[in-house]
Amino acid sequence: MEEQNSQGITSSRGGRKLIHIGFIYYRRISKNGKDYWKCLRKSDCRPTAITKLTGDALSVLKESEHQHALNQECVKAELVIQRLKRVATGHPELPPAQLFRENFL
Ligand SMILES: [Zn+2]
Repeated sequence: MEEQNSQGITSSRGGRKLIHIGFIYYRRISKNGKDYWKCLRKSDCRPTAITKLTGDALSVLKESEHQHALNQECVKAELVIQRLKRVATGHPELPPAQLFRENFL
């Protein structure tokens, strides 16, 4: 599926998140046009990632290795939420329950 390797930056109430090849990061700081990210599993994983956004193109300048497996399930859930939000934004007249039924069932 195309979502397997999806990447991108999403924002939610919890702040900005980066999804990159199966891992999720949260943003720590933004400096000199670069974003510095930390693995969402901060308790047992230390990696950081540095990205640069040029227009709409996201490039990952640096990414360290993780001490755990991909959090594919979390990534999937995150992508579903983002997709639902996109659809909902395009169709404000539709009730959420209907959006959900039409897009995910
Ligand atoms: Zn990690």
